[in-house]
Amino acid sequence: MGKTLYEKVFESHTVRRLDSGQYQVLVGLHLLHEVTSPQAFAMLREAGLKALYPNRSYAVCDHVIPTQNRSRPFADPLAEEMIAELEKNCRDFHVHYFAPEYGEQGVIHVIGPEKGLTQPGMTICCGDSHTATHGAFGAVAMGIGTSQVRDVLASQTLPLAKLAVRRVEVNGKLRPGVYAKDLVLYLINRLGVQGGVGYAYEYAGEAFEKLSMEGRMTVCNMAIEGGALCGYINPDATTYQYLKGRPYAPKPHAWEQAQAYWDSIRSDADAEYQDRVQFRAEDIAPMVTWGINPGQSVRIDGRIPELSSFSAQERPMVQEALDYMGFEPGTRVRGQKIDVAFIGSCTNGRFSDFEEVARLLQKTGRKVAPGVRALAVPGSQQVHRKLVESGYHKIFTDAGFEFREAGCSMCLAMNPDKLQGKELCASSSNRNFKGRQGSTRGRTLLMSPVMVAAAAVAGEVVDARDLFDIAKEEEEV
Ligand code: SF4
Repeated sequence: MGKTLYEKVFESHTVRRLDSGQYQVLVGLHLLHEVTSPQAFAMLREAGLKALYPNRSYAVCDHVIPTQNRSRPFADPLAEEMIAELEKNCRDFHVHYFAPEYGEQGVIHVIGPEKGLTQPGMTICCGDSHTATHGAFGAVAMGIGTSQVRDVLASQTLPLAKLAVRRVEVNGKLRPGVYAKDLVLYLINRLGVQGGVGYAYEYAGEAFEKLSMEGRMTVCNMAIEGGALCGYINPDATTYQYLKGRPYAPKPHAWEQAQAYWDSIRSDADAEYQDRVQFRAEDIAPMVTWGINPGQSVRIDGRIPELSSFSAQERPMVQEALDYMGFEPGTRVRGQKIDVAFIGSCTNGRFSDFEEVARLLQKTGRKVAPGVRALAVPGSQQVHRKLVESGYHKIFTDAGFEFREAGCSMCLAMNPDKLQGKELCASSSNRNFKGRQGSTRGRTLLMSPVMVAAAAVAGEVVDARDLFDIAKEEEEV
């Protein structure tokens, strides 16, 4: 019987089995940011310990950094303090820091892949839930807590339980106007926000194989929203092409050997899975969330479900979501008026996300509706530079978007980018939890960047395929 990529990578990084039944696992790449690392460094100092392998850790500031005025000290003294502390910790513990001053900053899960640090067959950890993003390369990548950040710094290892593997297969081609974000929102809707607990998700089938690396990152980024600690896609030619030439990717003389290893860790054809599920790509339409978790979503042409369609156990949570969002069951999500549109985050803040929106804005000459505040926030300074060099940033600003500096921005709003009061935000981020975007009453509708742009233009939730004539494009092809 063959093995899955997860088993191969987990086993090859296992140092020993622990008495607890867990395994001590070597961490190949450790990513750090300003929010979950200060206490970990403080604990290391207190214990008189050094970082054991500092060259396996890399840090950025992303959550609290402002996306407008970045002159130091920052206007927010807490942001200044947190970033200054990260800078000091990186200096003291000899951890490489990708500094904004050198144009290297961005959201940690955008930076790792962009630099070529994220590679197939690695074990990757970060004190951040969306570390699953890196699974797009065929890595076993997961979020950890602050005390685990300390443990990884001190020992480069973690005690981990071995997960079961569910093969999530989506066959066929996504229809025009349906993107990676719709695919993952659909899967979370079908499998549930707790459905992946105890599993690593192996995403397989033509729908994933056809995605770009950036699309694959969008999918894996949200594995955790479906309860799976990690999600991955077996590496292939798309992966290798993306990695080649990136600063930390293997150099030409070592490439062949690296690729042979990466090929060897792909799941075997006869691998055994603890569970398998199958879906058809053609069944997927643009998705929009209506509730307070990423599984509470509906197709753009659908209606907010009736309470009676849920089990008795689920109903209180559904009622809570409806009350918070101010939505009536049975009404359409299409036509809900929005106040704010946000394109960015580690889910959808990469170059291709903005490129597709810019293409459609330019083609149709559409502008942001009066009264809508629209933010385009690149996931990294490199994405920002590329958007400026390509002129796409001007398409955004001409259309009425605010084009900002790189950071997490309104995804979690630990910076000045916040919703006000009960504002409703069309957002390309990954969480629609209560108060997630900076106002305790603020409301989030998750959707793809193209759907966010369409909502910004119409001033309400619409089907981007109609607004941007995407169906017509298919006919022209
Ligand atoms: S963009 Fe959002 S989800 Fe991603 S790391 Fe930042 S706050 Fe977390």
